[in-house]
Amino acid sequence: MENRINGHTRLFCLIGSPVGHSGSPAMYNYSFDRLGLDNAYLAFDIPLEKTGEAVEALKLLHVGGFNITMPCKTEVAKYLDDLSPAARLIGACNTVTVSEDGKLTGHNTDGVGFVRNLKEHGVDVAGKKIVVLGAGGAATAVTIQCALSGASEVHIFNRKGYNFYENGEHTVEKIRANVPGCQASIDNLLDSAALAEAVGSCDILVNATKVGMAPLDGETLIDSSLFRPDLVVADTVYNPRETRMIREAQAAGCKAAIGGIGMLLQQGVEAFHLFTGKDMPAQEVMEKFFS
Ligand code: NAD
Repeated sequence: MENRINGHTRLFCLIGSPVGHSGSPAMYNYSFDRLGLDNAYLAFDIPLEKTGEAVEALKLLHVGGFNITMPCKTEVAKYLDDLSPAARLIGACNTVTVSEDGKLTGHNTDGVGFVRNLKEHGVDVAGKKIVVLGAGGAATAVTIQCALSGASEVHIFNRKGYNFYENGEHTVEKIRANVPGCQASIDNLLDSAALAEAVGSCDILVNATKVGMAPLDGETLIDSSLFRPDLVVADTVYNPRETRMIREAQAAGCKAAIGGIGMLLQQGVEAFHLFTGKDMPAQEVMEKFFS
């Protein structure tokens, strides 16, 4: 890469903390190279309380755009000029674009990445009844984007009395107020009868909790007796690539059992397009960095 960086090279970056483990620099720099774009991508470790200063610094440096990871995803919105409709509803941004005149617009590509990944597997969320397990960051993005993409119903399950239940209630209120074509509700994840009934009558079941990733790898929130051939099962967890829930859904012959790695790729594809107006070589990136 040192051979192509010059005085005109445009900087893109990731801010948040920690960022050392992130696959984003490799994914973006490879794609810039492949498309012959004079851009470079770095990651900067920025704690929550420095979010505003970081945004000011990035403006001063005339960066081409930036991604935001935890813990800055919600905080960053305060320092932007505008938000996309999805980012406004979700209340968090993972991508900021910069216009010619320096205007910063926040986007959230996590939900779009989820919906696109399902589409890549032949599943359209439009008109579907969707059960979402979880009410945290990923769950909020997935739930709101499914509603915006035409789902007929989104039914959230989160443990009542634990973190995030109120956030789920807030998500339901936002969908009711802003996406009237989609029915939204929330129930207690610990109410196994309510969960079984909802899973029994939905089209798509999504796990957007931390269950399935370390240290909860090997665990699942769904009793495999609830799986049936006309159910689509999707996970946001991508490490491990196949969670126990996904393995059990496959074994039960569910219509589709879709892991979270494609969501991770597709949220990057969407951000890359917002940054450059071009398509990331997604298949190559998947094979090179996510296999
Ligand atoms: P978060 O901390 O914002 O939310 C965590 C959620 O998990 C909450 O709903 C919480 O109630 C639930 N939870 C935690 N422990 C639980 C347990 N023992 N039983 C039941 N529920 C439990 O986290 P997040 O950022 O939303 O991440 C959630 C998952 O989504 C993680 O596994 C993360 O890796 C994944 N994720 C994937 C992508 C992707 O692109 N594929 C993007 C973002 C997040």
